[in-house]
Amino acid sequence: MGHDRRGERQAALRRRLDGLGLDALLVTHPPNIRYLTGFTGSAGLLLLSADRTALVTDFRYAEQAPEETRGAAEVLVESRSLWERLRKLLAGAPRLRFGFEREHLTVRDAERLSGLEHAEPVPSAELVEALRSVKDAAEVAAIAGAAELAHAALAELLPSLKVGETEREIAARLEAGLRKRGSEWHPFPTIVASGPRSALPHARAGARPVGRGEWLLLDFGAQLDGYCADLTRTVVLGAPADTRQRQVYAIVRAAQGKALTELRPGMTGKEGDALARDVIAAAGFADAFGHSLGHGLGLEVHEAPRLAVTAEEPLPAGAVVTVEPGIYLEGWGGVRIEDDIHLTPEGPRCLTDGRTELLEIH
Ligand code: ZN
Ligand code: ZN
Repeated sequence: MGHDRRGERQAALRRRLDGLGLDALLVTHPPNIRYLTGFTGSAGLLLLSADRTALVTDFRYAEQAPEETRGAAEVLVESRSLWERLRKLLAGAPRLRFGFEREHLTVRDAERLSGLEHAEPVPSAELVEALRSVKDAAEVAAIAGAAELAHAALAELLPSLKVGETEREIAARLEAGLRKRGSEWHPFPTIVASGPRSALPHARAGARPVGRGEWLLLDFGAQLDGYCADLTRTVVLGAPADTRQRQVYAIVRAAQGKALTELRPGMTGKEGDALARDVIAAAGFADAFGHSLGHGLGLEVHEAPRLAVTAEEPLPAGAVVTVEPGIYLEGWGGVRIEDDIHLTPEGPRCLTDGRTELLEIH
């Protein structure tokens, strides 16, 4: 992954903790642990204080954790209870006022926290997420690589699509193409929705065969070096598009194109969302675009920042976000177009191919 940023990330987090009057942060969300230490396992508690970065993990990761962290954290392997080990760790130190990740704790974990002696747990929100929302060059390169792989798998799939094939068969072939090209995982369940089902923004691939002249909506991800790309294309299969399909597609495309070119860091997430939403509303389809315009991309497929009506925070320079407007009409179908962009101080840079002309595959 090129230059090792883990030390800088930890230093930035320490400065943030200092500003908040916290002695430490207990990190429990696995993507946050990965970001700070490189550890990719599913079980871990990371305690980051002024002079210590201690990762408590279990027996399954005894070999993997030291390999992956390579000095970015002190690894403590605990075979019985991670929380018991944390308790011992804290008992040996002066009383710590430490933050914990309120978004990522179960009620059971909160009970364990409140039972700790020598410690004052303080709920904190999205401290590591805020750091993660600004990407460095290696992170952007990984997302761009994942996007390239996604496009290659799609390019292989499209000419081979046939009327009568089921959504699940199509999903299986697309997913095989992604894996074959090196995608580490499908970051979310692949959406393949045909005909009227394309009006369901989060439809999963089902048993329905695609009919002639119908919409086929494909929304899928790829993952490289842990980083996700997220892409949607909506095509017409087996016949040329009809007039209404062309009209609706053109509106979504115009809305997406406006956001892809005019989105800037410093705008609020709400202002970003409005770039596309206003175009769709002006065409009379305000009620048919019921979700937000986009989300951050990184180690998780949905992360900060958001492009949404409720997002009042400014978009940081360096963020990577999706731009994915849609129009969904019950009983008829839906169109969504999604690309991924890097918000540089000079303007948006598309990490996907941004080629959104209507494809009629027949
Ligand atoms: Zn998507
Ligand atoms: Zn998305």
